[in-house]
Amino acid sequence: MKKPQKTKRKGKTKTKKEKPIINLIRIFLWSVVAFGILILVFSETEKNKERILENPSISKIAESIQNGEIEKIIVKGVDVNIIYKDTTEVIVRKSASSDFDETLSRFGVTPEVISSVDYRVERETGFAHWVKLVLPFLFPIFILLVFIWFITRQAKGVGMQAFNFGKSKARFISPDDKEKRITFADVAGADEAKEELVEFVDFLKAPEKYFKIGAKIPKGIILTGPPGTGKTLLARAVSGEASVPFFSIAASEFVEMFVGVGASRVRDLFAVAKKHSPSIIFIDEIDAVGRTRGGGMGGGNDEREQALNQILVEMDGFEQKDKVIVIAATNRSDILDRALLRPGRFDRKVVVINPDIKGRKKILEVHARGKKFEEGVDFDVIARRTPGLSGADLESVINEAAILAVRKNRERVSQQDLLNSIEKVLMGPERKSSVITAEEKKVIAYHEAGHALLGSVLSYSDPVQKITIVPRGVAGGYVLSMPDKERKLKTKQEYIDNITMALGGYVAEELVFGDISTGPSSDLDTVSDIALSMVTKWGMTKSIGPLVLRRSQFVGFGAGREIHSEEMEKLIDKEVNKIINDCYKNAKKILKGHRKAMDVLVKTLLEVETLEREEYEKLLKENGVVLKNHHDIHHKE
Ligand code: ADP
Ligand code: ZN
Ligand code: MG
Repeated sequence: MKKPQKTKRKGKTKTKKEKPIINLIRIFLWSVVAFGILILVFSETEKNKERILENPSISKIAESIQNGEIEKIIVKGVDVNIIYKDTTEVIVRKSASSDFDETLSRFGVTPEVISSVDYRVERETGFAHWVKLVLPFLFPIFILLVFIWFITRQAKGVGMQAFNFGKSKARFISPDDKEKRITFADVAGADEAKEELVEFVDFLKAPEKYFKIGAKIPKGIILTGPPGTGKTLLARAVSGEASVPFFSIAASEFVEMFVGVGASRVRDLFAVAKKHSPSIIFIDEIDAVGRTRGGGMGGGNDEREQALNQILVEMDGFEQKDKVIVIAATNRSDILDRALLRPGRFDRKVVVINPDIKGRKKILEVHARGKKFEEGVDFDVIARRTPGLSGADLESVINEAAILAVRKNRERVSQQDLLNSIEKVLMGPERKSSVITAEEKKVIAYHEAGHALLGSVLSYSDPVQKITIVPRGVAGGYVLSMPDKERKLKTKQEYIDNITMALGGYVAEELVFGDISTGPSSDLDTVSDIALSMVTKWGMTKSIGPLVLRRSQFVGFGAGREIHSEEMEKLIDKEVNKIINDCYKNAKKILKGHRKAMDVLVKTLLEVETLEREEYEKLLKENGVVLKNHHDIHHKE
């Protein structure tokens, strides 16, 4: 059995991250270009050397001079450039210690003969000579310098940012931005939350009305609820409805490397928002800075506290005429610092919950806009199949279904696409291709059959809608059990049956194979969680009674110590063990009694892999299992 797991979606991706890589590539390319240019220049200076035809001996040159074949001799340092009358050109090297005419005279060329040719000595300037000497060494150094220059330029860029860091990083949505504008119509369901927020919309639209009568409008609202329930969406809708600017920032952005940055960001953000009033400041995931303070020994996180303090200071400094409303969102309102929730600060709490069946249908319809569906697609059915899913989950159900349809080359989304995508959203994609040995398949089949059988026989568990041994996400197989009707409250008896059903996989494996795999580990997590909550949170045991047993909140010295007695601690352990043990015994008894049905179910599963509710229930009935009629037992909504 697998509980629906929701993946928390993380917000906008930052485009800034890819920049350093691009810059590095740019530096590299520039270096290559610089290198290329230098090579070109270098080879240019070396060019004349290429024109050496052959290296004639000095005696030969002397002969040529005497024969009058040479027009010009240019001596440049140790290089002697000899230009013949037929325009061929030769470079020879002379020794540095003697002059070239001297050398020639040793070969019998008289000064008169020499004077008949255009004989020039070009004194190489000291500088040019020097450059020529050191240039080869300079090249690599030069390239290195270019590289370093680019790097430091980078670093300077970072430095500039560092100087800038006080500026708030808030994102801004203007009321004139028609594309990004969101209104209450875009938020389906969530009627209670909307009702509470209408008041603020009205204030932002016509504040004078409130001022006149002397009414005070709260400065801060906390939106709290599970992830993906539309908190961000609601906050934006308030600004959209009121047509005021919307400044949003994630509280984690206040927590920076440098102490003091967060606080100055807060200051900037509030200053800007005031300038554009009436306006809304939205602080997402406020628990990142707003969790209970003073827990840690030795001060805890300074930066976080400074940012939080600054938020409080700013809010206290608000005047009514500032006409700025701060909306904060969190899915952990229980851990927020009490100082945040004091009157005059975030003193309004709007709870956003996962949508009920009607809300889910509406959300599905909102996200179905602009998509094409086959005739006969029924959102009622989909809404019924998706208890516990958030708005964000439902959005991805619709989207996954559309993707499935495209993959199958269809132009419209079918009901089956939607049903498949529910499971994909709940448990991850199917892993049809993963290699599972026949033996493993059998273990998985018994495991799931164990869950399913218990689910169908126990009075208070939810009916089994589907059983499959096709792996999906991390699960090797799963049983989809879901109530036909949604309920908000659960009873002790239901939790007991939940635990029993969750133990079904474990018990079946033990019963059939005499051994236990790691398969049930997440089942055991569920079991322990429920049992512990029953004892310590929900007052569901006689010996402990209606009492909530909290753990101490302090971290550091005495961390995690219970704030109740050791005897109580033992009692908790005892009660938890008792609950689980009773369930375990019951599960074992039931599965033993239905061994034949379980064997048939497993055999069928190994053949067809998946059974839907009807086939499944038929199979059980044929094998003598009496199914509970869940409808009669569950109280009406
Ligand atoms: P939260 O801030 O509570 O984590 P979001 O507001 O970011 O959730 O919601 C995520 C997405 O889920 C939204 O962009 C929207 O598409 C969808 N969604 C959530 N709740 C609703 C709703 N009530 N109506 C329509 N869409 C919703
Ligand atoms: Zn299981
Ligand atoms: Mg959000």
